[in-house]
Amino acid sequence: MSVDATQPYDVSNIFARILRGEIPCKKVYEDKHALAFHDINPQAPVHVLVIPKGAYVSMADFTALASSDEIAGFFLAVGKTAAQLQLVAPGYRILANSGFDSHQEVSHLHVHIFGGTALGPMLALAT
Ligand code: 5GP
Repeated sequence: MSVDATQPYDVSNIFARILRGEIPCKKVYEDKHALAFHDINPQAPVHVLVIPKGAYVSMADFTALASSDEIAGFFLAVGKTAAQLQLVAPGYRILANSGFDSHQEVSHLHVHIFGGTALGPMLALAT
């Protein structure tokens, strides 16, 4: 089911539970601001999710409410994660779904990192 990105943060969402250590993840990178881990259902040879440690539903929420430190720290973590995965030279794609039209499924902001193969066109044609 798609997330309503305008709703308040739901502390029981799956990524909040991963952050609290209640369910496991295959960790790739972690620092003060962010955690990166492999997607449970990969859509590319490399498919990693990067999430901020703060409680933010979506990019709208994050950019409206997070501190500059959190925002900078999060995007630095995305770059560091991709570098750690050795994706800089071959290239990679980042994507963040936000709200109904994007089909966001988990109500904690996350950036997908895809790589490990030629990824083809950016989007299937939307009609
Ligand atoms: P969205 O559609 O919200 O942008 O993407 C959510 C992503 O979270 C999906 O790619 C899905 O496979 C992944 N995901 C959902 N539940 C879990 C989980 O429990 N663990 C991990 N590692 N990934 C998950």
